[in-house]
Amino acid sequence: MTTDRKYDIVIVGGGPAGLTAALYAGRARVRTVLLERGAPGGQLLNTEAIEDYPGFDHITGAQLAERMAEQARKFGVDIETANVTAIRNGGERKRVETESGTYEADFVILTAGGEPKKLGIPGESDFQGRGVSQCAICDGAFFKEQDVAVVGGGDAAVEEAAFLTRYARKVHLIHRRTHFRAQAILVEAARKNPKIEVILNTIVTEVQGDENGVTGISVKEHGASPRLLPVAGFFVFIGFQPNVQFFDHREHPKHDALNFLITDSTMETSVPGVYAAGDVRSQLTRQITTAVGDATTAAIDAVKKLEARKHQLTPVPVDAYGESDNLIIPAH
Ligand code: NAP
Repeated sequence: MTTDRKYDIVIVGGGPAGLTAALYAGRARVRTVLLERGAPGGQLLNTEAIEDYPGFDHITGAQLAERMAEQARKFGVDIETANVTAIRNGGERKRVETESGTYEADFVILTAGGEPKKLGIPGESDFQGRGVSQCAICDGAFFKEQDVAVVGGGDAAVEEAAFLTRYARKVHLIHRRTHFRAQAILVEAARKNPKIEVILNTIVTEVQGDENGVTGISVKEHGASPRLLPVAGFFVFIGFQPNVQFFDHREHPKHDALNFLITDSTMETSVPGVYAAGDVRSQLTRQITTAVGDATTAAIDAVKKLEARKHQLTPVPVDAYGESDNLIIPAH
């Protein structure tokens, strides 16, 4: 194991939240490293086109990722390829362990996102971003007046199927059981929606397509033979898992019932000095815009506390209304 690499801030995860935290920390001139196991960009790299990020009416996920990474590097942030295995709370100094060595820092900003669950059927990965999607808000508008399918029986599937009817000609809502897990009010609304066709007791076995993207899916009702359902878009909403596996259970930050980390208004978790931003955080929605907003707050707060620590000052705590007058009061 190599010797510890010492930084002020270690950012874990290089999606939009991590790259934004890196930008703000870099501009504040604090020693910052961003650790990412793959190429910087996170889920942006699975997204063909983005039309809901302000300032860009159309940009590919890869282009936005590259721009964000370049911008962070420009301000002196080290972006390193490393697979993080553990985050240890050593009090004032945190240790971030990777397969290629250990990093030490005053603050950790966890922006490791999560993974939408996948069906694991043939064609699903091949057509990811080319008709297969896990985000109706991001990709729904690409399917104007076309037929699409949604799989899943929870709130997300039923709600997103309804959202997709703004664009699609028809939405097939496919669930493997005879009853939905989603709230009754959402199911009732979906059943009344003339654009939604509910298909129960049915699984999806394959995604088919050509060089232009998805052309259809194979579906199989229980006890029946498979049949082809022609669709241009296939939306998978079967749950989402945040990447929070780095913590020992004794030092695990507080989380909600689905394991998303709970933060205060500065994005700090219940473990002092450990922040969470983006998809890993418990919140209403998971968008690029919300991820960059969370990360901005986290980085600014971490830098503020770092400065206070360096100069042995006590930052004014955020008050009950989430506001602070930004004054710094000497400790003595
Ligand atoms: P979820 O509630 O866990 O539902 C996942 C759905 O996907 C279930 O119906 C499940 O089927 C199905 N599924 C799982 N694996 C599958 C597979 N391999 N093949 C086919 N179907 C599969 O997930 P979610 O809908 O993403 O919601 C997550 C949480 O967010 C929930 O607590 C939900 O209430 C909340 N949420 C709330 C709202 C809202 O309040 N408006 C909106 C979105 C999400 P089974 O039923 O057979 O297990």
